Amino acid sequence: MLDVLIRNGQVVTPQAVGLMDVGIQGEHIVAVGQPGTLSGEVTRVIDASGKIVIPGGIEPHAHIGIPVPPDWTGHADVMTQPPEAASRAAAFGGVTTIIDFTGDLSRPALSGQRRRPVLETLDRRRAVFRDHCYTDFAFHYIIAGRAAGHAIGQIREALEEGVGSFKIFTTMEIRVPYGHLFGIFSEVAKHGGMMAVHAEDDEIVSYMTDTLKREGRAQAHNIHLVHNNMSEDIAFRTVIRLAKYAGVGLYFVHTTAKEGVAAIAEARAQGQPVYGEALHHYLEFTCEDYKKPGGTAIHTYPAIKYADDRDALLAGLMDGRLATTATDEYTTFKGPKLFGDTIETVCGGHNGIETRLPVAFTKFVAERNMPLQRFAEITSTNAAKLLGLYPQKGVIQPGSDADIVLFDPDLHKTLSLSDLHAASDYSIWDGYRCQGYPVLTMLRGKVIVEDGKLVGSERDGRWVKRRVENSVLARPTV
Ligand SMILES: [Zn+2]
Repeated sequence: MLDVLIRNGQVVTPQAVGLMDVGIQGEHIVAVGQPGTLSGEVTRVIDASGKIVIPGGIEPHAHIGIPVPPDWTGHADVMTQPPEAASRAAAFGGVTTIIDFTGDLSRPALSGQRRRPVLETLDRRRAVFRDHCYTDFAFHYIIAGRAAGHAIGQIREALEEGVGSFKIFTTMEIRVPYGHLFGIFSEVAKHGGMMAVHAEDDEIVSYMTDTLKREGRAQAHNIHLVHNNMSEDIAFRTVIRLAKYAGVGLYFVHTTAKEGVAAIAEARAQGQPVYGEALHHYLEFTCEDYKKPGGTAIHTYPAIKYADDRDALLAGLMDGRLATTATDEYTTFKGPKLFGDTIETVCGGHNGIETRLPVAFTKFVAERNMPLQRFAEITSTNAAKLLGLYPQKGVIQPGSDADIVLFDPDLHKTLSLSDLHAASDYSIWDGYRCQGYPVLTMLRGKVIVEDGKLVGSERDGRWVKRRVENSVLARPTV
């Protein structure tokens, strides 16, 4: 007895890619077999002929329903789009799990004086998503500011609750000083979690900000000169050294420069568990695009760099030096997005959660012959492994959640705003020609998008407990 049988699709599993059938009972995959071999009573058959069957996309980096700094937008009350809208866009884009953020960023917390308890912070954030999310969700836990003592004492508790990863910044007002960082790294290493790091050299960033202002070059299109290649080089290498002393696993969010890719590759060659993420719009645009009218719409911090940096990110994802694609989802409307026009006020982020899979398929599979298994890795499996969702998520095999996407490799589509589902009035992908597009999305056995329609409910999504496997934290495994 099967609830759903997905028949005749080109199924992508870690062992093979081929014509197979996938049997589902309740929320789980129960069988994967040669076509016609899964017999018995079936409630629903989905014909996947001509489609690729892949694990549901995992978005490892999103900022949903949070306040946007007023000096970026000119308004006090702008928020990024809420979970309903972001997860609706995600579902249409073949994404079934979103990893967002939580943490105490209050002033007392930043100064290291007093922090809200981890469980209270987590509960508040879960309440924002619960009954408002079409996909499953989880949160990296941000530790901000001077993080001695109290904050460090909460790390074990957070891990026990099922927070598999922590996030720190080495720049901006929420930055963690290096000494404190070592304390956090050591504690996370001791109890088994992944460190997600936004690494920029704060001193380079502030020096370049001052310099460009003094020289009258503070226009927003020069943002890549502030958040520059040297900053990534120095910050990545410093963080990697600290992580080596502490013995912690690193996940570099938004690797943006060839220097970052090289630093990751060198650490990995020495056996250090260091992994890199690239944002899908960094695979297309360059800093030259900032100069076009409305060009800063593409901006996400740190900053989009040069053509050879873009090429290094593409190559890193092809050859394994980088592990995941992500979006840094941070959706606003065009007005607030384009309000800030200086290197200190340009608004970060964009709406990308829906376009990541089709853009990655176009760039890697269609244009560069990436094997389908590798495509599944960089859109789903690796994020699941590195961030503690595997094998519940990120793989098509018996026992795993039936998070499955049917992807049509022959569907050619020029993206336009009217095709997209974010709560926004622009897309930097408007006009981009995709080859391949998701056509059906299933979350834990329930179809949530089909025939261009949303058939899931905002009550479907659940918070997912995470725990990163020790092997991933011991040496580079993906
Ligand atoms: Zn981010």
